Amino acid sequence: MKSRLIEIDGSVGEGGGQILRTSLSLSLLTGQPVRVTSIRAGRRKPGILRQHLTAIRAALEISGGVADGAELGSRELVFRPEKIVPGDYRFAVGTAGSATLVLQTILPALMLASGPSQLVLEGGTHNPLAPPFDFLERTFLPQLARFGPQVTARLDRPGFYPAGGGRIDISITPVTRLQPVELLERGADGERALIVHLAALPNHLAQRAFERLCARLNWPDSCCQRLVHSSERGPGLAVVAQVSSEQITETFSGFGERGLKTEALADELAEQVRRYLASTAPVGEYLADQLLLPLALAGRGAFRATGLSLHARTNLEVIAKFLPVRWSVEPQADGSTVVALG
Ligand code: AMP
Repeated sequence: MKSRLIEIDGSVGEGGGQILRTSLSLSLLTGQPVRVTSIRAGRRKPGILRQHLTAIRAALEISGGVADGAELGSRELVFRPEKIVPGDYRFAVGTAGSATLVLQTILPALMLASGPSQLVLEGGTHNPLAPPFDFLERTFLPQLARFGPQVTARLDRPGFYPAGGGRIDISITPVTRLQPVELLERGADGERALIVHLAALPNHLAQRAFERLCARLNWPDSCCQRLVHSSERGPGLAVVAQVSSEQITETFSGFGERGLKTEALADELAEQVRRYLASTAPVGEYLADQLLLPLALAGRGAFRATGLSLHARTNLEVIAKFLPVRWSVEPQADGSTVVALG
């Protein structure tokens, strides 16, 4: 089994970086070598970018493996892991590329390793198109803990696009196997929170984001929290909305960019929150694609999501290339989707 080379076509489905990251994660976990072709063929700048290269190097370092094609711009990679060695590691993207996506690649192997690990990850922590730190800390890791592994994350300093330079400390207490989880309902309503991360930008941006979001969502001022970071880290504006229920906290985010009015950012974010609140499913769009791997590794369990994105559908396929999973994907009458195994 160990020597079978798994072939993954990186252009299928959403054709993005997640195909590469999931392939690396599962190669590390199963010991099976993998060849990924047409890497990120569906993206405007295809091939390996710095964030992906850092993820590949991280995968090589924790496994003592070897790779062909691990270069910037490369569209094909062959990766052969050896043995996973838990411990203390530091990985730096070197640009504003997402540090949380580097973690997404190696965490599955380290959360099932033979001992604890401490990671320092440097790069972007609040990037569009990637899980922001707040999502990692309050949404993903608490759900992962239900499967068994205890993983804590601390934001040392934020990294925004384009400056980067963020730093996250991760501490991983692994388990020998994941336990099955059922996450079908939210449970009773809990807190609402609005968080603005601000660096080297005027305070009124936070105020305007809060005013607009509170008005649109009918949330009280008391849920607003402003985090002003060192101006060296800027410019940076990340706006985060969290909806807590008994069983889950979901995190939605929007990021400032040149030419984007804060009110427009707030409106788009309010829309994400409203869509989630209009459903009764506990798992939002992004968490859904990220919970598939722990669910597959547990081998049994289920979750109900607001829907399944192309990312999630692609991830189902990639996972099935490595593991003997028989996914059950059941659309529900209310528009949500139940994904189950076993
Ligand atoms: P890819 O586009 O293939 O590089 O994958 C992006 C990954 O980032 C997926 O796992 C997404 O679920 C995740 N992601 C993107 N945007 C967000 C967000 N706003 N919150 C949480 N996760 C996100």
